[in-house]
Amino acid sequence: MTVVRVTAPGRVNLIGDHTDYTGGLVLPMVLERRTVMEGTATGDGLVRVSSADESEPACFPIDIAEPESVEPGWARYVAGMVREMRLLGVMVDGFEAHVTTDLPIGSGLSSSAALEIAVGRFVRELVGSDSVDDVSMAVAAQRAEHRASGVPCGIMDQLCIAVGRSGSATSIDCHDLTFRHVPIPDSIEVDVRFVVHRKLVGSEYADRVADCRRIEEIVGPLRSARPADVDVLRDDRLRRRARHVVSENQRVRDAIDALGNGDVTELGRLMTESHHSLARDYETSTPVMDEAVERLLREPGVLGARMTGGGFGGCVVAIRHRG
Ligand code: ADP
Ligand code: MG
Repeated sequence: MTVVRVTAPGRVNLIGDHTDYTGGLVLPMVLERRTVMEGTATGDGLVRVSSADESEPACFPIDIAEPESVEPGWARYVAGMVREMRLLGVMVDGFEAHVTTDLPIGSGLSSSAALEIAVGRFVRELVGSDSVDDVSMAVAAQRAEHRASGVPCGIMDQLCIAVGRSGSATSIDCHDLTFRHVPIPDSIEVDVRFVVHRKLVGSEYADRVADCRRIEEIVGPLRSARPADVDVLRDDRLRRRARHVVSENQRVRDAIDALGNGDVTELGRLMTESHHSLARDYETSTPVMDEAVERLLREPGVLGARMTGGGFGGCVVAIRHRG
């Protein structure tokens, strides 16, 4: 009986939040912390899966058609990904597995996408298939997340986790799914701090996605919109949402240039500006997250700080001079 063991890292987003679901630009990087899945093929038509972070294991048919109905709820991410991989031709026919992670769960470092990609890698290895490439696996994981959580997330988390390299950020164009590894200079360190568990992100996130769809009906694709297109919007809320997305895409371009030029001061400035845009225009921050960012900015050596991920809690990320 061959034991298969795979891992998938968490991610932190350096800059480019709430731009992925309109096909914009993002600059996340993978973390050292990761999710591990270990188990064996059984061939009995069932998935039996447990997690060190959950009291209840799950058991469901390998050909599950409605992953969103699986109990306990955490296993919906597993079921969703098993289903998507089978739809891509990875015909695993039963396994048992255990999941562990050193990522904080529900804290904006994407434990959910790490779990999905771990499942994808696990079943791919179980059947010895190389028919599903990393980008296709990321798209499958995004669909699995939509089904499992009901949150209409973009592709950033899954694609970064599927293709990211340690020591580099991953610049991703979320429209055509092209990506590039951008090395992080040795002169800085990336500091990620947990602040508070997220709350209510599901409905708020979906509201932001809906705002962007409304904006795009008026001004066309946000990924190619210019600041002047934003001014056309009469509704104050929609104008502020659009201003965040358009300016954030430009900040990602500028951040990639800054990294290329070794200008870490500029990178820090852009990160802090990104936070203010999220707080003021996109309204996905909270007073507690704002305070955590301000506190970090007062620490010696810190070049820039922002909240990271979907918002309404989670983690903050800063860059600082090394040592
Ligand atoms: P984040 O992805 O930021 O950590 P989410 O709310 O998107 O937060 O996803 C967290 C959910 O993913 C958990 O509530 C759980 O259902 C599932 N999950 C993630 N990692 C694990 C794990 N190691 N074991 C069990 N469930 C997990
Ligand atoms: Mg998540």
